[in-house]
Amino acid sequence: MIVLWIKAKKGVLSLDTIYLLNRLTWLLSLVTSSSIVLLAAFHPFNDEVIQRRSRVFVVPLTLFVMNALHFTPGLRIEQVLWLGDVLVLTLVVLIIPLKERGKVMEGIWVPFVWMPIAMVLLTRMLYERAAHLLENIPDHHMVWPLLLLLAILYRQGRAEGRRIRLFFTGSCLLTAAYGVQLFGRSLYMPEVSLSLKVFAYGLWTLSFYLTAREEVLSSRQELDQLKRHSEKTAFYAAKKRENELNRTHQTLMENAKKDGLTGAFNRISIMDFIDECIRSNKQKPFAILMFDIDKFKAINDNYGHVTGDNALRHLADTAGNVIRGEDRLGRYGGDEFIILLPSLNLPEATMVAERMRERVKENSKPPFTISMGIAVYPQDGTTVVSLIEQADRGLYKSKSKGGNAVSHVSVL
Ligand code: GH3
Ligand code: MG
Repeated sequence: MIVLWIKAKKGVLSLDTIYLLNRLTWLLSLVTSSSIVLLAAFHPFNDEVIQRRSRVFVVPLTLFVMNALHFTPGLRIEQVLWLGDVLVLTLVVLIIPLKERGKVMEGIWVPFVWMPIAMVLLTRMLYERAAHLLENIPDHHMVWPLLLLLAILYRQGRAEGRRIRLFFTGSCLLTAAYGVQLFGRSLYMPEVSLSLKVFAYGLWTLSFYLTAREEVLSSRQELDQLKRHSEKTAFYAAKKRENELNRTHQTLMENAKKDGLTGAFNRISIMDFIDECIRSNKQKPFAILMFDIDKFKAINDNYGHVTGDNALRHLADTAGNVIRGEDRLGRYGGDEFIILLPSLNLPEATMVAERMRERVKENSKPPFTISMGIAVYPQDGTTVVSLIEQADRGLYKSKSKGGNAVSHVSVL
């Protein structure tokens, strides 16, 4: 622009063309800086790097807006453009290494609100001096933007990524634009320089837009991933807890049905099993055995209750080994037990009872014997209570025989 101005002074280009070109560059710079600042201001994730970089563009934006509002009397538009370029490039050079230093330098940067106010006051105070200084910008002053751009290119040259490459290309084009302004000797150089600047500012805006977009996308992706991960974790944790609770519930239910000392079913459970058998078996026969340790009191008295308990446990184990999978063993109370044999008739049940009596007699420690009574459904009773009563009468029949016997109330 300065070259245009100088050439215009020399009468190479018409003043109307120069004015138009200057206005165009001014408008473009205004649009670029304002769009970058707005992009950062409305960026949904308040990205630190974007904010920091975009603050740089508040400086030329303020300058251009003030120029439009006639707050910079004495400064011609080409001087405003030159000043804007030098300031923005200096700040870009300064903020590039800030990325690594992080928040230490962050405080130095004035927030969006204060920066324009400070700029307005500063320019108002200095505009006369600036106008005087910039009145005749010599050609060699173009070296400054060029040097600053070369510094940006040097720093950005090693960076990776699409948006960085765009920023880098934009900076290259801007360098070329100033190179053309400084060294160009052709009549068309001003137009070439202007076109290069148009592209350069366009690429800078695009690079800022892509940075913001990438940030939004990656933050959304992270959020989605986090959401999916936490949902999965919560689901598995809930499932695990549910399984644990189910297992605990099952164990509790099973334990509630068992007798604590012997591990056999308790009185209520064994009666329930018999009841179930009556209801599901219809008229098919099944048998129950009731048995009781002979002279158990004497074991308790002679050996103590701990040995008595062990004798009860041992008896339950022996009974458990004699019966089959579908049979059930229950402790009816004290030293009395009941075995449910769901598919056996009287002769078969008698055989099991005899085997059991023999086994106990041979294996018990301290030595003891048992007396047994048998009851068969439906001939001895069709209810739980009547069947148990009949088995109990058989048991007493065995006791009356002197113990260590198997009896049925009417047959054996
Ligand atoms: P019988 O030959 O007539 O059956 O004589 P018994 O001495 O075995 O007499 P009975 O069956 O009436 O006595 C049962 C005893 O079992 C009474 C009680 O002290 C004892 N007993 C009941 N429950 C337990 C227990 O859990 N542990 C121990 N060690 N003894 C028990
Ligand atoms: Mg007894």
